Amino acid sequence: MASGVEKRYLFTPGPTPVPPQVLAALAEPVLHHRAPDFREVYARCLARLGEVCRTGREVLLYTASGTGLMESAVANLISPGDRVLVVSAGYFGERWADVARTYGADVDVLDYAWGEVPIPSDLQPRLDGHTVVLLTHSETSTGVVADVQSLAAAAKEAGALVAVDAVSSLGAVPLDTDAWGIDVVVSGSQKALMTPPGLAFAAVSEDAWAGRGSSPRFYFDWERTRAAQAKLDAVFTPATSLVVALDVALSLLLEAGLEAAFERHVRLGRACRAGAKAMGLELFSPDDDSAAVVTALRVPEGVDSGELVLTLRDRFGITLAPGQGPLKGKVFRIGHIGWFDVFDISTALAGVELALAEAGADIERGVAVTAALDAFEQPLSLA
Ligand code: PMP
Repeated sequence: MASGVEKRYLFTPGPTPVPPQVLAALAEPVLHHRAPDFREVYARCLARLGEVCRTGREVLLYTASGTGLMESAVANLISPGDRVLVVSAGYFGERWADVARTYGADVDVLDYAWGEVPIPSDLQPRLDGHTVVLLTHSETSTGVVADVQSLAAAAKEAGALVAVDAVSSLGAVPLDTDAWGIDVVVSGSQKALMTPPGLAFAAVSEDAWAGRGSSPRFYFDWERTRAAQAKLDAVFTPATSLVVALDVALSLLLEAGLEAAFERHVRLGRACRAGAKAMGLELFSPDDDSAAVVTALRVPEGVDSGELVLTLRDRFGITLAPGQGPLKGKVFRIGHIGWFDVFDISTALAGVELALAEAGADIERGVAVTAALDAFEQPLSLA
């Protein structure tokens, strides 16, 4: 087991590493949520969240994990018995379906095998009186980023409200909430927004406000939070220190620009794929620039991916993510979301190389890091 003095490397698709300026903000004295100094930060943070979501609508901010805001979408949008269509191609698509069933929705699933990329033209023929369509933007369990713009357009065309889980995608890959006509975008603090876990939010359209259902709700009743936010007077005690930290993180993100963040994520994805392939590993996630959030890799014959992840953690202090569900034992995942650079990728790959070589796997040593660095240096247009 790595001792407390050893360096730890967090390379999972959430939580993700947090920049020192953001950590420093967490060490400031706690603000009272009704004090003027907090209200100022609160207002700025809400405005910045709108910029990141590319929406002019209100963004409702909660102390919760991402799943809490998925639940809020279901609790606010549906009435028991409503027909809901979930597009599912992995662990988090299944979560949408589970939450919707919990609230008594009549759930249909457009079900893909884990790792498949949802196809917008598959959606239209399945839509038949569904009031809500639930989509996953970046399916963190497989590394697939879906074309939610086209999927949402098909759903809207059929008159449904569309909610998108953007927990691992927002701030990493383009997501144009208003321009793409998405009714609800939910996301959280602990991925591309470079802040510890604990805050989550939803951007809600006028259609979604008008189309609210009758499910029981209290903490997650959007109306309560909307009314309170309008007066900058949080209705429940928010995690004020996290709001202060998120505000700092969003200022870093927006100062550098969202486009710069999107470009960096594409290049990180390229670097990770190039390095992994050079060593002889097979990709599970797509081998193209859409896979800018998480790289999922198959382990060589005879190696269990869960064991590999444990070895990396215990021997080198490197935390990667194992495979989930049907991918357990077969796949491991390197997240490159948020405050990441190419040296994080090369560290992750170097650790994987060493651990696999020790496990007796047939991989080529000494090439992954160079391939990753070279791929990262390529200008985007030369792909
Ligand atoms: N959706 C996606 C795509 C995710 O990656 C995650 C977190 N890994 C969640 C939902 C759930 O978020 P949380 O763990 O914060 O509830």
